[in-house]
Amino acid sequence: MSDSRRALPAVHVLLELEGVRALAERVPRAVIASAVRAVVAEARDDVSRAPSTDGAWTEAIAARVDAGERPTLQPVVNATGVVLHTNLGRAPLAAAALTAIGEVARGFSSLEYDLATGSRGSRHTHCAGLLRELTGADDALVVNNCAAALVLTLNTVANGRDALVSRGELVEIGGSFRVPDIMARSGARLVEVGTTNRTYADDYRRACTSQTGAIVSVHRSNFAVEGFVAAVAPRDLAELAGAAGVPLLYDFGSGLMLDLSPWGLRGEPTARDAVASGASLVVMSGDKLLGGPQAGIILGRADLIAALRSNPLARALRVDKLTLAALHATLALYRDPARAVAEIPALAMLTTPVDALRARATAMVARLAARGVSARVNDTESTVGGGAFPTARIPSCAVVLDGSGDPITLERALRNGALPVIGRISDGALWMDLRGVESTDDDRLTQAILEAAA
Ligand SMILES: *Cc1c(COP(=O)(O)O)cnc(C)c1O
Repeated sequence: MSDSRRALPAVHVLLELEGVRALAERVPRAVIASAVRAVVAEARDDVSRAPSTDGAWTEAIAARVDAGERPTLQPVVNATGVVLHTNLGRAPLAAAALTAIGEVARGFSSLEYDLATGSRGSRHTHCAGLLRELTGADDALVVNNCAAALVLTLNTVANGRDALVSRGELVEIGGSFRVPDIMARSGARLVEVGTTNRTYADDYRRACTSQTGAIVSVHRSNFAVEGFVAAVAPRDLAELAGAAGVPLLYDFGSGLMLDLSPWGLRGEPTARDAVASGASLVVMSGDKLLGGPQAGIILGRADLIAALRSNPLARALRVDKLTLAALHATLALYRDPARAVAEIPALAMLTTPVDALRARATAMVARLAARGVSARVNDTESTVGGGAFPTARIPSCAVVLDGSGDPITLERALRNGALPVIGRISDGALWMDLRGVESTDDDRLTQAILEAAA
């Protein structure tokens, strides 16, 4: 052992420091002791960075205690310009959804209790009515997420049988979601048809045998292909599947409930379009463009939905009461489309006029300048994210911190602040795209920038 290691203070000595003892007012002694041991161990590993005074030891120990008290799942400000950012939790919930969660979470609820008859009920009833009304589907079922919806539907209709899918749709949706892997786990045998760029109706027809359990159509939600391409539209595929006597499963992903073309977002099907295509079962996410909680929504033929409900996997993939409460409240907003656009945060963010963002950025830059932090307003482009409108670029506006030091240091400071802010570095500066920032967060964002720049 080196001399400097031997010189590190003992744990019991550090525990007696005044500032360390004071920590006992807010955390149990065992927590303090473990923080002290961790800080000493760290100092032993890198003696050159060990605290050198009582004050520095106290500070390091207090910081360790604070870090342990802080949950790893924290609210952040999404200034990335990607509105439905999967890593940042996708859709923020509407106020109505938060209220609904609070009411159901506080006490007991009629989750599986039929208040009309006073007997056992089913959790599957709660959102089905609104989903039928809003999408035109015969029936609906809600599970944990869209991946779960795909597993459940394939396992129910094609377990041990062939599921035909175009080679152009064997895609990866995100980190750990690859369509072929999910399909394999469902018990269905994947049969690839067509080629990467061109798949024709005849490719499906030729692959249909007595072993075929389903035809699967996966929406290209996070990429675009162009050039020498051909695909069979879900409507035509539904007809083909009907003629072959097998169901068509249509994974359309986004959960878009309203036509957003008035706001320049074109080309994605809505849930109603997906149902109207004639697919036997449609699956989509709850937390993408629908703007609700994480959920997988299955829409379609009543007999198939009934079969899904009685599959034992449905029990393993079921959603909890908080999700159902939030989803119901979110769906209810869609009864009045104008209200949905105004009150569902994802839709409000995507449809905010760029002028409004510019005005907010301008005000923020002025407030920063008044406190000696130099920044400028810059037009930019945001994306939808969350696997929808992959090529859409939405005009946006950013606060660019170009005169407040090294952007990498600044980015780290903002990310590690009391309210973490996630921006993006571009052209040697840190950009805060306001499209994904609630206007009610502007003050907190300004404060976070001031603290990081200090
Ligand atoms: C996003 C997406 C999924 C996965 O949805 P999760 O809700 O994240 O499970 C599946 N299919 C498509 C087409 C998607 O866009």
